[in-house]
Amino acid sequence: MHLKSLTLKGFKSFASATTLRFEPGITCVVGPNGSGKSNVLDALSWVMGEQGAKSLRGGKMEDVIFAGAGGRQPLGRAEVTLTIDNNDGALPIEYSEVSITRRIFRDGASEYEINGNSCRLMDIQELLSDSGIGREMHVIVGQGQLGAILESKPEGRRAFIEEAAGVLKHRRRKEKALRKLDAMQANLTRLTDLTAELR
Ligand code: ATP
Repeated sequence: MHLKSLTLKGFKSFASATTLRFEPGITCVVGPNGSGKSNVLDALSWVMGEQGAKSLRGGKMEDVIFAGAGGRQPLGRAEVTLTIDNNDGALPIEYSEVSITRRIFRDGASEYEINGNSCRLMDIQELLSDSGIGREMHVIVGQGQLGAILESKPEGRRAFIEEAAGVLKHRRRKEKALRKLDAMQANLTRLTDLTAELR
């Protein structure tokens, strides 16, 4: 599995549609200060499901939409598509190439797609996390993050290791199951009350 391309449209400083193509191996992005190198990484973590505006260096999620610059008007939406080569089947989906798209509009509405089909954010997160990449998987190490890991307390460091080891996915599923169990328990209590009343 490797990242094949990343297309940005109206995302941060990328007002016009821009596609970056990657080959297997190491890719370096070079450019002057403020030219948009970090915006490319922001786009990558955003399309993989990042939900924290602060992690994307903004105040609110809509800040990722091109806000106008160099005489160009602000845009109404931002869109990023990541195409992954899945010839080795690392992603649990029956396609040799997988495209993930995320879109956001100025009113805050969001859309997600896998190979052009609408889906939920959760579907993208699950698809990627099963292969060990994606949001919170520490495949993206941001500026200052290494320092944060080294300086964190033992509990914090444990959380980093758990996430990297893929425990996070199971913790999320466990929390979901516990919430369902709680709801089921409430239904059961209600049913017991009703049965007692009917006797
Ligand atoms: P450095 O080398 O200094 O870290 P960089 O190449 O990583 O810089 P970025 O931080 O990716 O640069 O890009 C910053 C630029 O992106 C700034 O000029 C900023 O104005 C622009 N920018 C960020 N968000 C938006 C937005 N929503 N609309 C338009 N431009 C934006």
